[in-house]
Amino acid sequence: MDAFRFQNPTALYYGKGQIESHLANEVLQVGKRVLLVYGGGSIKRSGLYDKVVGILKDASVTTFELSGVEPNPRLTTVHKGVDICRTENIDLILAIGGGSVLDCAKAIAMGAKYDGDVWDIYARKGKATGALPLGTILTLAATGSEMNAGGVITNWETKEKLGGGSPYTYPRFSFCDPENTYTVPRDQTIYGACDMLAHCFEHYFHRTEHTPLQQHLIEAVIKTIIENTKAAIDHPNDYHARETLMYCSTMALNGMISMGIQGDWACHAIEHEISAIYDIPHGGGLAIIFPHWMDYTKQVNPSRFASLATNVFGVNPDGKSVDELADIAIAKVRDYYREIGAPQHLADYDIGDDQLDTMASQAVRFGEIGNFKKLNKDDVYNILKASL
Ligand code: NAP
Ligand code: FE
Repeated sequence: MDAFRFQNPTALYYGKGQIESHLANEVLQVGKRVLLVYGGGSIKRSGLYDKVVGILKDASVTTFELSGVEPNPRLTTVHKGVDICRTENIDLILAIGGGSVLDCAKAIAMGAKYDGDVWDIYARKGKATGALPLGTILTLAATGSEMNAGGVITNWETKEKLGGGSPYTYPRFSFCDPENTYTVPRDQTIYGACDMLAHCFEHYFHRTEHTPLQQHLIEAVIKTIIENTKAAIDHPNDYHARETLMYCSTMALNGMISMGIQGDWACHAIEHEISAIYDIPHGGGLAIIFPHWMDYTKQVNPSRFASLATNVFGVNPDGKSVDELADIAIAKVRDYYREIGAPQHLADYDIGDDQLDTMASQAVRFGEIGNFKKLNKDDVYNILKASL
C-alpha cells in the first residue's frame, strides 16, 4: 500500500435516542448562535425539524435558518448561507438532511471564513482558509458526507458541478439515527444504495499493490449493501436494514476502508458533468455510468473484476478464465442495478447525444481523470455514448 496519514475528527452518534441525549451538549460546546440548514421540507413532514428546534430552544440557543437547499445544491444557495453567517455572527452550522444539505453547509462553513467567492475553492483557484464549526443530522444514507470533508456544489450559471473540501470541513459531530431515514422514498433509497456502492467501486478499482485488507473490507461493504437494500426498499421501516445501510454509507466514504490506496473517481467526475447539465440524481447517474466504465477499463486488470465475481457475487471460478469471470462480474453488477430498479441508460432521464461532447470536454477540464485507467476526452465520450 502507499504511505498515508489518516485523521478523521468527526464524532459520530449512531442509533435511536442520541439526538435527545447529546445534541444540546454538542451545540453548547461551540456556541449559542446556530444556523440551521435544511432542504425542501422533508424534515418538517417527518417531525425532525420540530424535535430539533424544541431541543435547541430548551437549551436557549438562538437559531437562524437557511431552507430550500436543492438536491445537487447550488452556489446561489451557498452564497445566501454565507451572508447569514457573516451578518448574524453564527457560531455553528447545523445541517439537517441528506448529502446535498450537508455539502451545502460545508461550502457555507468554508465561505464564511474565505476572503472571496467560495466557488474559487471548487474551481481550484483558491484554498480554504478555515471553516465555521459544522454539525450534521443525517436523514438519507448515501454520500458519507456525515463523516468526510468533501462536498459537491453546482454552479448553475456556468453549468459546472465540482467537488471540493478542506481539512476544516469534517463535521465536528454527526447524528445518524436510522429512524430518520424511514421516510426516504423508494427512488432515493435506490439512489443512495447506488452512490454508496459507487464509492466502494471507486476504491476497489485501484492500482496500488499489496492491499489485501482494503480489498476484503471493501468487498464486505459491497456485500452488505447488496444484502440490505431490497429490504429497505420493500420495508421502509425495517430498522435493521436502514441501520445497516446507514453504517455502510458512512464506512464507504469516511476513509476507513481506503487507507493507503488511491481510488479511481472517474465515474464520479463523469456523473457530475451529467448532473451539471441535466440535474439528475447523483446515484442514478452513477448506476448508469459504472457498468460501462467497467466494460471500458476491465483489461487494465481483469483479475480485480474476477475477485468481485468470486468474493462478492459468490461465482464458482472452476473452469472459468479470468476474462470470463471479469465479464460475469460486470453482468452481475448490471443485473443487480436492474433488480433494485436503478436506471440503466441516459435515455431513462431523456438524455440524448447532443451534449456528449461538452460533457466529455468538461470532465477533463483539469486534465485526465481516473487512476485505475487514465481517461482522456475521447475515453469519456466513448463511455457516455455507450451509456445512452
Ligand atoms: P439529497 O440530494 O440530499 O436528497 C435527495 C432528496 O431526498 C431530497 O429531495 C430530499 O428532500 C429527500 N430526502 C432526504 N432525506 C429524506 C427523508 N428522511 N425523508 C424523505 N425525503 C428525504 O440526496 P443525497 O443522495 O444524500 O445527496 C446527493 C448529493 O450529494 C449530490 O449533490 C452528490 O453529488 C453529493 N455527494 C456528496 C458526497 C460527499 O462525500 N460529500 C459523495 C457523493 C455524493 P428535502 O430536500 O425535502 O430534505
Ligand atoms: Fe457519490
